[in-house]
Amino acid sequence: MVKGKRKPFNEIKDMVKNHKKVLIVGCGGCVSVCYAGGLKEVGILCDQLNASFHQDDVQIDFDGYTVERQCNQDLLVELDNIVPGCDALLSMACGAGCQYLAERFPAIPVYPAINTMFIGVDKEIGIFEERCRACGDCVLGLTGGICPVTRCAKSLFNGPCGGTNGKNCEVSKDIPCAWLDIYERLKAIGQLDNIKKIKEPMQWKNTTRGTFIQEGYEDRYLEKEKGAGLLSRIH
Ligand code: SF4
Ligand code: SF4
Repeated sequence: MVKGKRKPFNEIKDMVKNHKKVLIVGCGGCVSVCYAGGLKEVGILCDQLNASFHQDDVQIDFDGYTVERQCNQDLLVELDNIVPGCDALLSMACGAGCQYLAERFPAIPVYPAINTMFIGVDKEIGIFEERCRACGDCVLGLTGGICPVTRCAKSLFNGPCGGTNGKNCEVSKDIPCAWLDIYERLKAIGQLDNIKKIKEPMQWKNTTRGTFIQEGYEDRYLEKEKGAGLLSRIH
């Protein structure tokens, strides 16, 4: 599923400071599952914004509403009777949901409260790991089901770089070499010939691989991860 985390509070506050009535729109889909933008998080952000502007002696009215999913226009219909009267919307969905919300209400500014991180898996409660970067040309069928884009530090499509250090990546001794894992998986399933099939290299710019711990779960995992030497992989 898509994984996201809430933007820093002051960034959100700055985006909406010139409005009078703001509806915070949550999403019951992916961002709800990763504790970033569902019903509960909408309520928390609503309370924080109301309290913070009240403290500043600035009158802005914040309210919240969570739809089942923001990436489907049929599910946005229920907002049609709620949005009129608001002069801004704050979306707590991923970038796709936020864009669809803006498309439905083109006369009202729509702001993102969430940073969309990646497509990933749930490692434990509150800790998520990237497994797909939606590259548009999936090679899992050739790599034994291991993604070279997200699992290899250099996103190499055609075998390991020259720096593989034993079983590990040259970037960090704590990260296994993805291409060694691919080799072993292909061997185990009798498809080692696949490793010789050359793929065109892709251009990747401004991308980072990652794992992140959702805010609120940091105390629970950070010490453990540090002890296991995995901290460098978490951002
Ligand atoms: S809007 Fe984004 S976060 Fe919500 S369900 Fe759709 S893809 Fe997932
Ligand atoms: S190769 Fe990796 S990044 Fe590309 S679509 Fe497949 S899983 Fe996603």
